[in-house]
Amino acid sequence: MASSLVGKQAVVVGAGIGGLAATGAIAQHFEQVVVVERDALPAEPVDRPGIPQGRHVHGLLVSGQRALDALFPGFEQDIVRAGAVPIISGLDIRWERPGYDPFPRRDLGLRAYALSRPALEYALRRRVEGLSNVELRQGCRVLELLATRDGAAVAGVRCENSDGSRETLEADLVIDASGRGALTLALLKSIGRSPPEETTIGVDFGYATCVFAVPDNAPTDWKGVMTFGGRDPLSSRGALLYPLEGNRWMLGLGGRHGEEPPGYIEGFLAFARGLRTPTIYNAIRHARPLGAVVRYGFPESVLRHFERLETFPRGLLPIADAICRFNPVYGQGMSVAAQEACLLKGLLERPSAESDRLAGLAPAFFAEVPALIETPWSVATMDFMHPSTRGQRPADFETRLKFGMALTRLAAEDPAVHRLVAEVQSLLKPRSVYRDDPDLMRRVSAIMAQV
Ligand SMILES: Cc1cc2nc3c(=O)[nH]c(=O)nc-3n(C[C@H](O)[C@H](O)[C@H](O)COP(=O)(O)OP(=O)(O)OC[C@H]3O[C@@H](n4cnc5c(N)ncnc54)[C@H](O)[C@@H]3O)c2cc1C
Repeated sequence: MASSLVGKQAVVVGAGIGGLAATGAIAQHFEQVVVVERDALPAEPVDRPGIPQGRHVHGLLVSGQRALDALFPGFEQDIVRAGAVPIISGLDIRWERPGYDPFPRRDLGLRAYALSRPALEYALRRRVEGLSNVELRQGCRVLELLATRDGAAVAGVRCENSDGSRETLEADLVIDASGRGALTLALLKSIGRSPPEETTIGVDFGYATCVFAVPDNAPTDWKGVMTFGGRDPLSSRGALLYPLEGNRWMLGLGGRHGEEPPGYIEGFLAFARGLRTPTIYNAIRHARPLGAVVRYGFPESVLRHFERLETFPRGLLPIADAICRFNPVYGQGMSVAAQEACLLKGLLERPSAESDRLAGLAPAFFAEVPALIETPWSVATMDFMHPSTRGQRPADFETRLKFGMALTRLAAEDPAVHRLVAEVQSLLKPRSVYRDDPDLMRRVSAIMAQV
């Protein structure tokens, strides 16, 4: 174990999914890891202020589940014990989209689990608490990241405890898993470096969510429902009725550019009644709400191109949402965070002749992140199908759209294509697998020529 050490102390800012996953990736490579979290962390799987999005549906893709299991072997069993609802991909969630009500349902051979964000995070936190060289410091806000005098490296963090006392934690590696990445940008500014270029997609998406007790007369032929569209063909409405541990349903409603759902129960139900199909409204109209309706506004997806920076302070590493925030509709953020942590683990385990392993860590990480983000970001660019979406539309967007429609039609007809599409959507395979299959490309092109 001693030979795998790359530094004395690492500090991870943020005990969200990115921070906890990254801690699992680095723990055996440092004598000590301190995870600094501004929230007081609840002793039960419940919401907390630092994760306001945790009150909304948080689907974990199969890729994310596998990545977390690779970081913490047996993690899948942890979430099963936490009451996660087993989901057979392609079968248990009813998909309703224009032209497919529902999309053909079949067992695609992929097993997922549905649970609340607090339950997932709690299970992960328990694993991190079990690591002997990790200290989870809660109620402690990082005020700033500190650089060495010459600005070439990160030296530690300055933080404030809940009693107002301030202290400095020295670190050979600081992982910024604070979500927004503002600490990293502030450090770059303080040492006179440029921030990374950003690509943004303005979606102005509004969410409203309410949790219900699953009624006794709930349908038995599905465990969840995803519905796209409202009664008006131009509507941006969508909804996901998602099963949770504890025999509950979480219903997330959404709309964009002025079509956001309201935050009170009567308006929430009326919005659900305005969906294109009655499936979800009929399921919840007599169900008992277990709490108030909560809302969330998501203005834009943001991708920071750290890989384009010529130099970067040694020992600093932003991860997860600090690199890329995806429109949550596609349910990708936690899974990408877990995959990035696996990438980090792989880099630290890779044999190296360098005496200073930390010097090359961030450049190597940034060099490999774009390949990991390419597929989920291309999914997020589908937002340009809505005319009010802000940002730089990909030049080939119309072709992409037609390709997607043709592929969807093929997936409805052919179980093998359906499985492949599910694997790409679950981020188990890159979208380049389509291009790499000449027979599939020929079939898709034939359909595209007809539409
Ligand atoms: C409405 C909504 C729905 C979503 N749904 C999904 C979904 O279905 N599936 C999915 O995979 N992803 C979803 N996401 C995205 C997902 O929440 C994030 O991608 C994921 O949590 C990874 O983020 P993170 O770890 O970078 O940051 P976060 O999870 O936001 O964690 C950041 C942590 O850092 C702490 N922190 C911040 N600043 C400081 C500081 N200065 N000092 C100390 N601590 C600090 C915060 O308290 C928090 O605990 C959704 C997001 C939103 C907004």
